[in-house]
Amino acid sequence: MSLEGDFAGQTALVTGAARGLGRGIARAFLEAGANLVVCDINDAVEATAAELGSETGGEVLALRADVSSAADAARVIDATKERFGSLDHLVNNAGIARVARFVDTPDEDWDRTIAVNLTGVFNFMRAALPTMIAQRRGSVVNIASQAGKRGGELAAPYCASKAGVISLTQSAALEVAPDVRVNCVCPGFINTELQEDEYDAVSAITGEDREQIKAGWMAAMPLGRFQEVEDVAKVVLFLASDAAGQTTGEALNVSGGMVMD
Ligand code: NAP
Repeated sequence: MSLEGDFAGQTALVTGAARGLGRGIARAFLEAGANLVVCDINDAVEATAAELGSETGGEVLALRADVSSAADAARVIDATKERFGSLDHLVNNAGIARVARFVDTPDEDWDRTIAVNLTGVFNFMRAALPTMIAQRRGSVVNIASQAGKRGGELAAPYCASKAGVISLTQSAALEVAPDVRVNCVCPGFINTELQEDEYDAVSAITGEDREQIKAGWMAAMPLGRFQEVEDVAKVVLFLASDAAGQTTGEALNVSGGMVMD
């Protein structure tokens, strides 16, 4: 099934889209005909938007924003509606990963991880959902993680934040049905800079080398490889599309079989 053109005339907003998974999701929406808003805390979002626009010929608006700020969320939603007249799809992708042993976790790691990964999702849903409810159409896809379905070593704040994203997804889905759907995806390990940084951070604590760490994580993948950005982006577009019209409150694994519940 091709989704190309399915999103023509619709507006999608992707957070954390300067690089990595967010950039890939943004590109997939553009290729499917959507107008796009990319926001990120990183200045690189401007260059990413220019590249995506010239690669796909689509309309892209770039906005600098910190998802942990409710004021930034409100500003981004207002700017989206001002530029494109509506907001049909929100993808809460921005996220960070800090690595530490549970008992050594600094306050700052806990606070910032919850602020970005969990409060950020809350901020953008709270700001965007009234528009979707008033339009009587819309979808939200939150990027959770397999780490939200089970605890993980050296990543307590991250796992807790992603479990919270799954919970927020379910609560919002109940309240905004039947016109608006809210789902999340739970990737396993995606080949991005975030994951590259994690090898180094884990290595610094455990003393294992990067290749050992990689091999250990790979061994948990029944389908035999890490996920690519495109593997996850396709599932995000499916959940946003009418093809998933009877799916809401779902936490869909894209983890190569690593997690099955
Ligand atoms: P990434 O390569 O680090 O990209 C994340 C982007 O979000 C970066 O541009 C980052 O900017 C931006 N960002 C960070 N904090 C932000 C904030 N407060 N407000 C707005 N933007 C912010 O990460 P990724 O691997 O693509 O991850 C994307 C999402 O997938 C995250 O939610 C992550 O938890 C989730 N995920 C990733 C994996 C994986 O293996 N990579 C697996 C499961 C789930 P800076 O570069 O300036 O920080």
